[in-house]
Amino acid sequence: YVFFADLVAIAERMATVKHKILVLSGKGGVGKSTFSAQLSFALASMDFQVGLLDIDICGPSIPKMLGLEGQDIHQSNLGWSPVYLESNLGVMSIGFMLPNPDDAVIWRGPRKNGLIKQFLKDVYWGELDFLVVDAPPGTSDEHISIVQCLQVSGIDGAIIITTPQQVSLIDVRKEVSFCKKVGLPVLGVVENMSGLCQRITDLKFMKMTDTGEERDLTQWLMEYLKEKDPELLELVASTEIFDSSSGGAMRMCREMEVPFLGKVPLDPHLCKAAEEGRSCFSDQKCSVSAPALKRIIDKM
Ligand code: ADP
Repeated sequence: YVFFADLVAIAERMATVKHKILVLSGKGGVGKSTFSAQLSFALASMDFQVGLLDIDICGPSIPKMLGLEGQDIHQSNLGWSPVYLESNLGVMSIGFMLPNPDDAVIWRGPRKNGLIKQFLKDVYWGELDFLVVDAPPGTSDEHISIVQCLQVSGIDGAIIITTPQQVSLIDVRKEVSFCKKVGLPVLGVVENMSGLCQRITDLKFMKMTDTGEERDLTQWLMEYLKEKDPELLELVASTEIFDSSSGGAMRMCREMEVPFLGKVPLDPHLCKAAEEGRSCFSDQKCSVSAPALKRIIDKM
């Protein structure tokens, strides 16, 4: 798929990039872009020079997650210039090229591969400490070409994002085997949207602030919901996403001999920060998810 001349051009471009990290997931909607965006915010806040490249061509959500919707890319004699959120955080996404954010990108493989190559070849990043690449979900032709293109100049490895559900974990196994096959190191697996069940269970041990008496708030919450919002109760009780007790991702990592980096809880404040294009690390409301993400990033 990839011509030698392309590889040479990409290697030249990437010569000024110290570390390259690919963010992968087996499925869409598990939080891959959220993680890529928050990882970039975190690295930039540590004063690293960071580039975030969104090559999720069919669902580019990075412009929104960095509050950069509607921005245009400029071309200079050095190549396409990323859109800068801070002087040390540059972003490039197919989303910047679509005239209307609601436009669907329906492209066949070769055209998508062509665009990915062009992104890697023609974007002028300058000196970077980290290039975070938000890849499309799954393992397709595009992935092979991304890995081939980046491997010529060395790639640190991939972070794989999953949810605790079995359906997502099955796809992660495929993702891990893909990495092993193409010789891409797995830096680790992150279990996202886990832990709400744990948080509800923790309510059991909460003391009532007014009386100091210990009461099982889980029971209270269930009874309250039964009366006020039985549909929500049904959802809480039946949705597998809340069942984080199984530790599925951790077990899978042990079996497949890849590092498990940790869990990020399902947190509506993180969702809000992501959708408003903000860093969760400067949002006090993300008091559970931001430290969880920070621990994962420190471990990488
Ligand atoms: P992907 O890139 O895998 O398709 P996204 O990062 O776009 O997934 O996430 C899908 C949606 O879920 C987004 O609205 C995002 O804000 C939300 N989301 C991601 N992670 C969490 C989380 N831990 N808690 C709550 N919402 C989340």
